[in-house]
Amino acid sequence: MEKQDLLRKLPSVDEVLGWHEMGTFLRSFSRELVADGIRSALDNVRQEILQALDEEVETKAKLITALKNFIIENVRKYTSYHLKPVINATGVVIHTNLGRSPLAPEALERVIEISKGYSNLEYDLEEGKRGSRYSHVEYLLKKLCQAEDAFVVNNNASAVLLALNTLARDREVIVSRGEMIEIGGSFRIPEIMKISGARLVEVGTTNKTHLKDYEDAITEDTALILKVHPSNYRVVGFTREVSLEELSELGNRKNIPVMYDAGSGALIDFSEKGFAGEPTISVALKSGVDFVTFSGDKLLGGPQAGIIVGAKSYIERMKKNHLNRALRIDKLTLAALEATLRLYLEGDPWVLIPTLRLLSESKEKLKKRSLAFSRKLRKEFGNKVDPQVVTTEARSGGGALPEIRIPSSGVSVAFKNFEPQEVEKALRHSEPPVIVLVQNDRVLFDMRTIFPGEEKGIISALKEIGV
Ligand SMILES: *Cc1c(COP(=O)(O)O)cnc(C)c1O
Repeated sequence: MEKQDLLRKLPSVDEVLGWHEMGTFLRSFSRELVADGIRSALDNVRQEILQALDEEVETKAKLITALKNFIIENVRKYTSYHLKPVINATGVVIHTNLGRSPLAPEALERVIEISKGYSNLEYDLEEGKRGSRYSHVEYLLKKLCQAEDAFVVNNNASAVLLALNTLARDREVIVSRGEMIEIGGSFRIPEIMKISGARLVEVGTTNKTHLKDYEDAITEDTALILKVHPSNYRVVGFTREVSLEELSELGNRKNIPVMYDAGSGALIDFSEKGFAGEPTISVALKSGVDFVTFSGDKLLGGPQAGIIVGAKSYIERMKKNHLNRALRIDKLTLAALEATLRLYLEGDPWVLIPTLRLLSESKEKLKKRSLAFSRKLRKEFGNKVDPQVVTTEARSGGGALPEIRIPSSGVSVAFKNFEPQEVEKALRHSEPPVIVLVQNDRVLFDMRTIFPGEEKGIISALKEIGV
């Protein structure tokens, strides 16, 4: 068969629009959108035929046989939501690529309540005049962090940028070489520093920085001393870092503000659940640093936001910086943040806040669920699957508690008719998509991040693939 013969067999867009299978799409979406979906499917097939080597042309004939299903699938993809829920079976709780913290129902309700109509976002109901959008969370943040003042922006990267630009533009900021971090590819201390207009002064070495290194680097041009939480890595072995207390004392003595980028920002004591080494924001402030910045959607368990807490004198200046207009937090986020912060005062945050609940769920409970899931897999798929309940190591993610492996439980599955990589890929394309890891040549479902009830979705996804 010739390429031209195959190409001639492709229907026109108008022809496909007339297929009765297109009826369901045409009833819900515009003719133009459906036509675009059809066109892209036809273009794909056409390209594949045109690029085929002569000896491959014969096999391309099957594209034509399967054309109807291919077009329907493509139109379905074209007309469905692009941003959609997925099942996270990776065991990484604060997964940046999967949207970090899931929100509490209370936070979601407030988002709807506040955004479906008007609100007092920037209106002072007492005075009957213009108010401040930041006032809605100020009290809560001050209370929870034991801080003199508080401020919120779009995310922690914005918070760091705003602080550097406000206090250190055209001047110097001292940072340890051990803290020259990159997070998620796009947040790098040297780059943020450059954008802010501040000059970076690196001190110490990768593994050791002494107080004297900071002290020796201070000049008339020093505007700020910055300490950064190393977040996603640890320097271990022959190391020395300067504590917040020591830096605060130095800053005090030399009259230079000290800033701490805490990254994930724990509002409560994590050591009570066995997570060591993540001091709370209030403890960090007690060390004497002037202000601390952190994210809203990492250990705090709220929406994406950047939070700045600490000395009023510095935060006042940040509020007045015009850059702030470009970094400001929106009302949906504020609504979710206020509701999340209130949960810390209303009851047990380990129960009320999904991120904290996922992190602290007992491995015994997870094992019970793994056993049930494993039995269900056997029941549904018989000898086509070989599920094993295994001990796993979940992770916090989000640059928090980086070294800590959280003992967990999961189900590791081998498939009779599929390679694990094939299953991993197919699960990504199912509805809802399921994100899994392939470990030891088997597909691993880590129970720590699978919400109770989502097992059903995984089973139907596996059925859909034809396991
Ligand atoms: C995560 C992190 C950031 C970036 O925070 P975003 O809220 O993602 O902008 C900055 N600094 C540290 C130390 C972090 O851990």
